[in-house]
Amino acid sequence: MVYRLAGSNVVKDLRKILGPDKVDDDELVVKLYSKDAVYFESNALAVVFPTSTEEVSEVVRYAYKHDLKIYPQGSASEIVGSSTPREDGIVISFDRMNRIKEVNIVDSYVVAEAGARMLDVNNLLAAKGYMFPVDPASIKAVTVGGAVNSGAGGMRGAKYGTMKDWVSGLTVVLPDEKGTILKLGGKTAKNREGYDLVRLIIGSEGTLAVVTEATLRIVPQPESLATVVGFFLTLEDLLNAVINIKESRINPFIMEFVDADTVRMTMKALGSKIKGEGHYLLVSVDTTPEATNRVLSQLEEIMRKNSVTAVYTARTMAEAEAEGFFDIRRNYYPASIRLAAEGLKSPNSRMYVYVEDISVPPTKTIEAVKRLRELEKKYGIPMTLGGHISDGNLHPILWFYDHEREKKEKFEDMILEIMEVAISLDGVMSSEHGIGMTKKEGLAKQLEAKGSLKALDLMKQIKRVFDPKGILNPGKVL
Ligand SMILES: Cc1cc2nc3c(=O)[nH]c(=O)nc-3n(C[C@H](O)[C@H](O)[C@H](O)COP(=O)(O)OP(=O)(O)OC[C@H]3O[C@@H](n4cnc5c(N)ncnc54)[C@H](O)[C@@H]3O)c2cc1C
Repeated sequence: MVYRLAGSNVVKDLRKILGPDKVDDDELVVKLYSKDAVYFESNALAVVFPTSTEEVSEVVRYAYKHDLKIYPQGSASEIVGSSTPREDGIVISFDRMNRIKEVNIVDSYVVAEAGARMLDVNNLLAAKGYMFPVDPASIKAVTVGGAVNSGAGGMRGAKYGTMKDWVSGLTVVLPDEKGTILKLGGKTAKNREGYDLVRLIIGSEGTLAVVTEATLRIVPQPESLATVVGFFLTLEDLLNAVINIKESRINPFIMEFVDADTVRMTMKALGSKIKGEGHYLLVSVDTTPEATNRVLSQLEEIMRKNSVTAVYTARTMAEAEAEGFFDIRRNYYPASIRLAAEGLKSPNSRMYVYVEDISVPPTKTIEAVKRLRELEKKYGIPMTLGGHISDGNLHPILWFYDHEREKKEKFEDMILEIMEVAISLDGVMSSEHGIGMTKKEGLAKQLEAKGSLKALDLMKQIKRVFDPKGILNPGKVL
């Protein structure tokens, strides 16, 4: 039998289970935990702050018994509406499960609780000359549990891919009658454990299991990092340089681009030590001190062949940071928001800013950019362009204002068309941000285009097997 509980009873019961200081239903606190980074907000019943896997299990067992919805949350920095709770449930926050439990250099792993910050993991590793390869631009906020569940990527994705390539073990709690605790995978790089449940959970956006701990693979920091920044008058020149770099057997550690409007805004309002006109391309290659000059000249030559207007080079990461080579890329989001804010009619009016996340095979980026610009004209909705260009991952940023009713109505059509551009070019409608609530239609379109809609049925069945009552992060992904 299912008991429908009043919010006050839920809070009372959970306080009995966890202790009074681990359950908060203060209006302001709940509000803070009921918002994601940009779009969605709601009002959960309460927020719980467990401190161990066993406590998470107890909360989940209680939720199962009472048909209470559970919304696991890291830092809520996702941008597809995957972490936002509804009014029918509680947020499980991992703020107090943030220990980095073990670092093993020889065996190449780190074990951390779900709420540990990726930045703290990386700072600890950096002191030993190591790093965790996945580095979302939002790394200052991102938690281990959030990165695992969003399947995060980042600037180093050019060389190292995304979370699914770098997690070897997970401790999870299943949303079943017992709140079953499972340890999946382990501490070795290789592991055949039947069907790969670790990888199924990575990127599942908190819909299959609650992750309490992860074993992450680590690698040494590069011995030396050669970096080149170039400015190009046309995006076509920049994208051709990218193609030539890939043809030349250079495998960049980082390869990022930002379009000319955003570059201008960064230089005007946010500051950049390096100056240039046009679109910005940043290429970092991990190399050895002996090979650095050769790599730098090779990159410079390729850029010159593609009509670069200004080139800057740095022999080491420290030099590149000191000279501000990364400023423009790091300011892509803030500069786009400033561009959008320039059009606000009054300080009280609102604007909506949306970050897209498509990928196409790198050879098709020129065509993709052309079609995106056509959509910008068709809908009259402005767009900046930037992203992880080495793997064809584009993050168009679009915006409109509250008073623009027509644009508001057409906005979802435009987003769908952007995703269709990627799908039609053998690309994907979501690369690293996930599906959440904003990309469900795109997911169906992508599978349909491949004649594989049946995969959606399989996913729904998998969801039911993991979460028979549908209590875990409902309404997301599927
Ligand atoms: C300015 C900006 C830049 C960004 N840049 C990047 C980027 O370069 N690359 C990239 O990939 N993303 C990027 N993101 C998106 C976001 O930061 C990532 O998706 C990040 O991994 C989310 O981590 P989080 O801790 O904030 O998780 P949350 O946002 O809290 O959660 C993400 C998902 O994981 C689930 N979840 C969280 N913790 C758990 C848990 N313990 N158990 C089960 N489910 C859980 C949530 O329910 C949700 O579905 C960016 C976001 C912003 C705002």
